[in-house]
Amino acid sequence: MNIEIAIKNASLKLKKNKIRSALLDSELLLSKVIKKDRNYILLNLDKKLDQNDQNNFRDLIKKRSKGKPLAYLTGIKSFWKCDFQVNEKVLIPRPDSEIIVEQVLKIYKNKDYLNFLEVGVGSGCIALSILKEKKFFLGTGVDLSQGSIDICKYNANKLGVSNRIKLLKSDVDNLNFGKYDLIISNPPYIKKFDLKKLNKEVINYEPKLALDGGLEGLSVIRKVIRKSSELIKLNGKLILEIGYDQREPVIKMLNENNFYNNRILKDLAKNDRCIISTKI
Ligand code: GLN
Repeated sequence: MNIEIAIKNASLKLKKNKIRSALLDSELLLSKVIKKDRNYILLNLDKKLDQNDQNNFRDLIKKRSKGKPLAYLTGIKSFWKCDFQVNEKVLIPRPDSEIIVEQVLKIYKNKDYLNFLEVGVGSGCIALSILKEKKFFLGTGVDLSQGSIDICKYNANKLGVSNRIKLLKSDVDNLNFGKYDLIISNPPYIKKFDLKKLNKEVINYEPKLALDGGLEGLSVIRKVIRKSSELIKLNGKLILEIGYDQREPVIKMLNENNFYNNRILKDLAKNDRCIISTKI
């Protein structure tokens, strides 16, 4: 079977299973199997696939047709300016979270040195993107999941920033040292009862630990704000990703913990997504 036919069959199967980007996903999964980029595939449609590659491709297409996210099958997701290794232990980086990176770079445009903490570092996409852009910044990342720490370490090495990030498998509550100029977090903020309403690809495959924010979706945000208030320097900034309907309760929590609310930014879908505050 040649590449063209394999892609055509795979794409039809994905379409039948209501996978929206059927053709692109088929091309990317075949790229993974034959270890060539997508361009190679498009320029070599008449190349024959050996039996082993055909079998591996069929397996991946089967998994994709059942809804397993593409990033977990390829093991890679692009975020900001880099590719990050991902697996089912970490949330797949979302374009919405790039707002945090963008804002950090904007706020600290003229600052070379800074010590920041990320609570719930996941794959490391946010913290490592910042370190990659700001060559003298130092970061600390904490996460409850050892799987996250492992993959974040791998990504830090790959991006050449491992000497500037300290990674700890820990609850933020256990951090009792360090004073940070900046704290960032994209905590789990989905209401427990809304989890089942999420897209099947999210809820069936992505880690609940990174999504479940308790009954009101605010439990972890509350904890991050409280703890940040202790760990942050005076005038330090706290930048949080929040749910589309959490603006008011989060502002209230911030104020109760001596943070001044600077501004709220909307995501691509025009929902409130990111809140910037200053410790006063
Ligand atoms: N934005 C993510 C989603 O919609 C949720 C991420 C989170 O809870 N931090 O799936």
